[in-house]
Amino acid sequence: MNNHVTVLEIDGNALLHNLNYFKKKLNEKTKILAVVKAFGYGSDGVLVAKFLQDKVDYFAVAYTHEGIALREAGVKTPILVLHPQISNLEAITQHHLEPNLYNFKIFEAFLQLAESIPLMNYPLHIKFNTGLNRLGFCHTDIDKIITKLKNTNRVKVQSLFSHLAASEDLEEKDFTVNQISNFTYTAQQFYKLLGYKPMLHILNTSGVVNFAKAQFDMVRIGIGLYGFGNGAKETNQLKNTHNLKSIISQIHFIEPGETVGYNRAFVAKNPTKSATIPIGHADGLSRKLGNKKGYVLINNKKVKIIGNVCMDMIMVDVTKIDCKEGDEVIVFNSQKMLQDFTTVSETIVYETLTAISNRVKKTLKK
Ligand SMILES: *Cc1c(COP(=O)(O)O)cnc(C)c1O
Repeated sequence: MNNHVTVLEIDGNALLHNLNYFKKKLNEKTKILAVVKAFGYGSDGVLVAKFLQDKVDYFAVAYTHEGIALREAGVKTPILVLHPQISNLEAITQHHLEPNLYNFKIFEAFLQLAESIPLMNYPLHIKFNTGLNRLGFCHTDIDKIITKLKNTNRVKVQSLFSHLAASEDLEEKDFTVNQISNFTYTAQQFYKLLGYKPMLHILNTSGVVNFAKAQFDMVRIGIGLYGFGNGAKETNQLKNTHNLKSIISQIHFIEPGETVGYNRAFVAKNPTKSATIPIGHADGLSRKLGNKKGYVLINNKKVKIIGNVCMDMIMVDVTKIDCKEGDEVIVFNSQKMLQDFTTVSETIVYETLTAISNRVKKTLKK
């Protein structure tokens, strides 16, 4: 039982608002895959998936164990495992997860497994590399893949997909358009030879925002579900889903010349009132937020973090505000606060969200 008072509250209404925002941008028939990898972008993949399971067509996770957690929680929706390994393939089939097969080594291992179990028309997904150079087959691999698929009814290709390298960056528009046209060409060639047409998909959140024409049969929405589009204009239309809260554990009165925290990094010039809060770098707060760079909200007032961020705690300067032990502390509850937190941490929102550690209690508010 996690009764840690620091809690990440996931806003269910905001998730639905964001999902509907993207639905409105898409054709009615376009399917939606909700990306819930990395614990639902640092929230709780199981809570998010259970909440959204009747409202989306697919889920995706990065790794097999993330998919197993969803199945064990009773999620019945199809789940695409984006980055399986050969050693996980058996577990994938046992939990009715759908593997992305990205090279011959894993493709052949899966066909062998499908033969030995044996499986029948088991859904799999094939990824093509169109320029990200991360995972995926090359266009010239098509003939060899098709030959192997033609010989078996153990598996069925559920989708062909690719991933964009710079969909958020309009300065790279030519590159993205080229990725999309490579994918279109490769996929068409593939399914003509295959004899049936799997679903096609290439867009992530910023792909939907910038290149909606390439929505094909499905889109894969991750960060957008959690309230961030690409740029302020889209983000303003979305709602924040991650609300990180804590409380004041203790208040100290510091005399001039006294110091606060490790390495005595904060030195009081004047009489100072500090509040200690049970959240630290082990919970996902970068050390860059220390020494008056980052802030939290207490009783609607911004207060700065003083001294170094500790593993389990931060101290903030509450000299000028009215507050007491036990009062609520907001680490972030809006996109603006999350963006400020991210800027000071010198990172991107994806990292801020996924850095929220498992020690923090997660709840979902419907
Ligand atoms: C993480 C991921 C996504 C989601 O991307 P967002 O930018 O968060 O929408 C989509 N597709 C693949 C292959 C991914 O790895």
